[in-house]
Amino acid sequence: MALVFQFEAAGEWQRCYLSGVINEDSEVTLGSLLSQLQPKVVFNFRRVDSINSCGVRAWITFIRQAATGREVAFEECTPEVVSQINMIPNFRANSRVLSVYASYTCGQCNHQRNELFQDGRNLPKSIGTQLEPVKCEKCGGVMEMDEIEDEFFAWVAA
Ligand SMILES: [Zn+2]
Repeated sequence: MALVFQFEAAGEWQRCYLSGVINEDSEVTLGSLLSQLQPKVVFNFRRVDSINSCGVRAWITFIRQAATGREVAFEECTPEVVSQINMIPNFRANSRVLSVYASYTCGQCNHQRNELFQDGRNLPKSIGTQLEPVKCEKCGGVMEMDEIEDEFFAWVAA
């Protein structure tokens, strides 16, 4: 699915829901998005399916311009977006990251789900912070993060 965006007013912030795939075809969409941004904008990544390497390049060009003279934040970053943020600091530019999803798997029944970490709630403030245990809603077992915790949250220290 091609990248699409949708705006929602959120107080003084403009919330922008991105959905679909960020790839080589997204440049035009991102260009038109850029022209509609307000001074304070939150990008919501929950419905972004995937990002390929051409998409990463298009996004970096976009966010550099978007973050110039604006306050920019990211929320509900998928595990894939978090890995981009960790690998490529330019992916977030100077955006604040408000919340991220980490993928968890149950050690007992293999049930998988995403856990949301929110700034000001359960998002660790530094690497090495002990995280709250995540319980499986299917069997009550202990769930483990699919990524190495310190690597997943490396961006917190950046
Ligand atoms: Zn389970």
